[in-house]
Amino acid sequence: MSQTREQSTEAMDPARVAALARLASLADPDLDDLTRALQMRVALNQIDGAALVVDIDGTVLDANDTIGSLGINRDDLRGRPLWAPSLWHIADADAVLAPLVESCLDGRTGSRTIDIGEIEPRPLRVGITPIFGANRTGSERTVSLLLAELHPLTDRHETDAIIAATAQKLAAAEDIFRAVAEYTSDLVCLHDPDGTFTYVSPSVKRLLDLDAGSIVGTHPVDLAHTSTRNALVQALQDASRRGSEPTRFRHRLRHRNGSYRWFETSITPIRTADSELQQLQSSSRDITEQRETEQSLIKKAFHDELTGLPNKALLIDRMTQAFATSQRTQQPIGVLFIDLDGFKKINDTLGLQTGDTALSKVAERLTAIVRPGDTLARIGGDEFVMLCAGTDGPRGATAVARRIIDAFERPFVLDGREVDLGASIGIATAIGENDPTTVLDNADTAMYEAKHEGRGRFAIHNEADQSLALERLGTEEALRRAVENNELRLHYQPELDLTSNRIVGFEALVRWQRPDGQLIPPGDFIPLAEESGLIVDIGKWVIREACRQAAKWRVYRTPDQEPVRIWVNLSARQLGDPDLINYVQAAVDDAGITTDEICLEITESALMDDAESATEQLDELRRLGISLGIDDFGTGWSQFSYLQRLPLDVLKIDRSFVSGLGTERSAATIVAAIIDLAHALGLIVIAEGVETRQQLEVLAELDCDQALGFYFSRPQSPEAFDEVLTPLT
Ligand code: C2E
Ligand code: CA
Ligand code: CA
Repeated sequence: MSQTREQSTEAMDPARVAALARLASLADPDLDDLTRALQMRVALNQIDGAALVVDIDGTVLDANDTIGSLGINRDDLRGRPLWAPSLWHIADADAVLAPLVESCLDGRTGSRTIDIGEIEPRPLRVGITPIFGANRTGSERTVSLLLAELHPLTDRHETDAIIAATAQKLAAAEDIFRAVAEYTSDLVCLHDPDGTFTYVSPSVKRLLDLDAGSIVGTHPVDLAHTSTRNALVQALQDASRRGSEPTRFRHRLRHRNGSYRWFETSITPIRTADSELQQLQSSSRDITEQRETEQSLIKKAFHDELTGLPNKALLIDRMTQAFATSQRTQQPIGVLFIDLDGFKKINDTLGLQTGDTALSKVAERLTAIVRPGDTLARIGGDEFVMLCAGTDGPRGATAVARRIIDAFERPFVLDGREVDLGASIGIATAIGENDPTTVLDNADTAMYEAKHEGRGRFAIHNEADQSLALERLGTEEALRRAVENNELRLHYQPELDLTSNRIVGFEALVRWQRPDGQLIPPGDFIPLAEESGLIVDIGKWVIREACRQAAKWRVYRTPDQEPVRIWVNLSARQLGDPDLINYVQAAVDDAGITTDEICLEITESALMDDAESATEQLDELRRLGISLGIDDFGTGWSQFSYLQRLPLDVLKIDRSFVSGLGTERSAATIVAAIIDLAHALGLIVIAEGVETRQQLEVLAELDCDQALGFYFSRPQSPEAFDEVLTPLT
């Protein structure tokens, strides 16, 4: 009925070898239980086919996902002997398997296999491989674990296995989700459709000083601050009603010490294949400190430090609002530009500190004149502006100006002496939509007129006199011209295949070459370009230029005779541009290349901004034959479940994870989990930002496919690579 064979040579499947190495490393006594369990599962899932890890006494410790393809429930196996009847449905499994396990402990390496051939319904080949603990010393060799592999012997079972393997991909994603959730510093949870916690990541201990176990079964509103409770309830409802895109919101949760922390949370519904809501997944990031900084930055950004008055930025904002209201009400707005007379003398004779005191006292007197709803701002050294809404035109503004001048009649007491100060005022009025800077300039001009006529006076700007203001050209305009004047450059960073160590592609990275020779990195102008919408034009240029470069590099081939491919970064704005497909196709056609020579990468966060319409655009690009990648992966875990749905080919692991490799154990665990997840979803994995040999070695060991980073090369002009590329022969 059965036959035993011994094999000294294994099939050298690299994934299997890596799995065996990983299992051997579990003998390290320093490993904590969680890491051990996680590594064991990762190793098992690297093995093609059903596999179990068995203790040397025959107890099953864990099994991989494929075991399900044999109709066996993993949880029924753990802790029971390998020959448990539930696995075999035959009475004498122990008679066959116990000796096989025993034979693996004799110190020899290599698998022992046995065919349990004629037993219906599952004819199987069983192979058991002894794993020798990696930290063995000298000649002493101890078996620490056994790996049991089960191979169905008939076609029918192969088909079953394929079907089950497909189903298993989803389960793998869920398992890896949990594995990663255990390590992320964010709070990652699963919820019932009504919101009740069903899983809470251990980070809750650090974030709220609570135990994950004590929260499971409770509802998030129990932790919510009253002020944000409604936001939470609303977000949960939205998330369960919506199709599949994440719902984001900010709210406060109670720490065990009674204080409340701010969190930014996104909730993603997880649906079954027929789109029934199964559960909700949330991930929350503690933004308490960030919020405090934001608040104080906002205060700093919009207020003058010395007097606490609004600054110019806030004034402009208030003017914009006031003009918009005036557009509706047709009420005139008065703007008074106030410049102090005699201030320079105080600074020069009494010192800067007394000057500051003077400014504070002036601010106090002016504040006493401001009516509720009006704004007093300090916009420069001794320049103040009063914005008066509903002033009844020049007449009202004039009355306010008189009161200000009166207020300066009394001398100021500085350092115990009486000092005279005066104010010259320029008035401009406006009705309806107006440009705040123009109105401000008008008031400024009027103020100079007043000063010329003598101090302590006011003047009203004469509309008829208005000369055309010269527009100062800011960076935005300069950037616009950079595109027109051909000041943009593309630099290229090579991507290496970790098996062949050869260049297989390049990432195109834009730079701005100023006429004076200065090279500006993208970080300094891409944000402005995105904000102003200029990114669409820049992006078009980048795509065209990258296609042209691809055409030049056509004479080169990778070791697999593939063309070297160029990866282009796409911003969220471009993804939302309905014209994108057309100009990509046009750029490819004009350069005379094919769509498989150019690839596009989009950051995880850009993809999630509007995941639904992103998916449509991506689908169309994919149909053109363009490969797509997700960039900076790992910086937004909340969107985990999306990966399965987006039409992606490549996943780029964010530099922040790679930088910890070789120094932090958790970094390797997370990167291993990401790589396994990506592979389970059929994606090619590229690691970004490889700077050291050690990082490279860890990545290769973890089965990462490709990498780029300063270790190989910094981004450089395309000519720099002409020599290293292998010409097509
Ligand atoms: P990214 O897409 O994540 O590009 C990788 C960045 O990491 C590049 O910075 C690259 O020079 C840098 N880098 C590569 N290897 C290493 C390494 O080993 N160590 C370190 N410390 N850094 C490394 P770069 O060129 O300054 O680009 C910054 C960002 O600007 C890019 O980040 C991308 O988001 C954006 N960007 C660049 N070109 C374009 C473009 O054409 N379009 C759009 N939309 N964005 C672009
Ligand atoms: Ca990129
Ligand atoms: Ca990146």
